[in-house]
Amino acid sequence: MKIALIAHDHKKNEMIQFTTAFKNELTKHDLFSTGTTGKRIMEETSLNIHRFQSGPLGGDQQIGALIAQNEMDLVLFFKDPLTAQPHEPDVTALIRLCDVYKIPLATNMATAEVLLKGLSRGDFEWRHLVRGEGDKND
Ligand code: PGA
Repeated sequence: MKIALIAHDHKKNEMIQFTTAFKNELTKHDLFSTGTTGKRIMEETSLNIHRFQSGPLGGDQQIGALIAQNEMDLVLFFKDPLTAQPHEPDVTALIRLCDVYKIPLATNMATAEVLLKGLSRGDFEWRHLVRGEGDKND
């Protein structure tokens, strides 16, 4: 599965805690992130991540483009609801695309935990079908 990991600045420590806790599951997947989030995760967990631009410089839009191409299966976006973001339109657009393409999206750590537990027990295998890859177990 292709998983996007994004965290606003005040949520980056939570993202590190989260990716550390779920490292064994995350390591089985293709990971993508915005620039600074990915740098922090790679430094602190040694997970391998494809990094895009920093969020305010277009990283959210790059991840959105993958969603529009049906190339993203899960988005874990730890949003900071208490701080205004200069790239708020990009954030809104990313969330909107998740809804357009029915991509599972968590905007906080509690939901992300539920989604990753679902991922580890196979709840997202339908994404292989949507991507035209057939049943992975075939
Ligand atoms: P960053 O971007 O990982 O480069 O900090 C995240 C964001 O603010 O969207």
